[in-house]
Amino acid sequence: MAWTSSGSSNAELIDNMLRNGILGKVVGDVVDGNKSEAECASDRIARAMKKVDRANYVRDKRDAYEDSPQTIGHGATISAPHMHAYAASHLLPYLPPGGRVLDVGSGSGYLSAVLYHLIEDPHGHKPSLSDSDAKSKPLIIGIEHVSELTDWSISNLKHDGLGEALEKGQIEMVTGDGRLGYPPNAPYDAIHVGAAAPELPQALVDQLAPGGRMFIPIGTYKQNIYHIDKDESGKITQTEVMGVRYVPLTDRKSQEEH
Ligand code: SAH
Repeated sequence: MAWTSSGSSNAELIDNMLRNGILGKVVGDVVDGNKSEAECASDRIARAMKKVDRANYVRDKRDAYEDSPQTIGHGATISAPHMHAYAASHLLPYLPPGGRVLDVGSGSGYLSAVLYHLIEDPHGHKPSLSDSDAKSKPLIIGIEHVSELTDWSISNLKHDGLGEALEKGQIEMVTGDGRLGYPPNAPYDAIHVGAAAPELPQALVDQLAPGGRMFIPIGTYKQNIYHIDKDESGKITQTEVMGVRYVPLTDRKSQEEH
């Protein structure tokens, strides 16, 4: 189970999640229980998560490999590793090489880093959903409304070996209101929202590429993760996935009073 996956090192934390079925089980559901594809997918997530040392993204390094959320200041938290693993699992088929991803409420930068490694992974073999200039634009955009957190996430990514990806513009961390998305690099093959929206933000739906998926917690007191899938004709399907507890997707003042 989720809370029993804590480890004494990053690799142990990921191996425990793999053993506890947190990476495989969800992916198995997503790909209709096709075991070999599910195993392949969970290995891919484990490989990406092992490249991201959680100690570089937390305030208290003693608890870096605990499978629990941790406060990162400004009313924000870094999510528990199993929640990041779920998010990666649910978005995996929508992360083609050269595709473009928007991480809304990027906080520590941890998930942006995992998504970057997944997009970079040579074993991801689906063709890009995006237009042909995908290569010349950032692969991962993290958008965060607390500028101090944006700055901190950039320094975290650098400590974690992603300085070059930042310099090359393959990862871009921006400060802004994620409820409005980030139009300059739209459309996105995948959109991850790391804070609970009171209702589905239309700007994010508009910025989702045809064939893309958004993973978003929606709700106030009672929250659920939804998949928002856009088909090639632009038709939207909204599927409730699971109950969760996230910090709200809001304005900065309300967040710091929360
Ligand atoms: N996924 C990140 C952060 C999760 S906490 C991690 O694990 O580190 C949710 C984040 O959403 C917080 O950093 C918060 O500041 C941010 N947030 C909340 N409302 C926002 C908004 N309107 N626009 C951008 N970021 C927002």
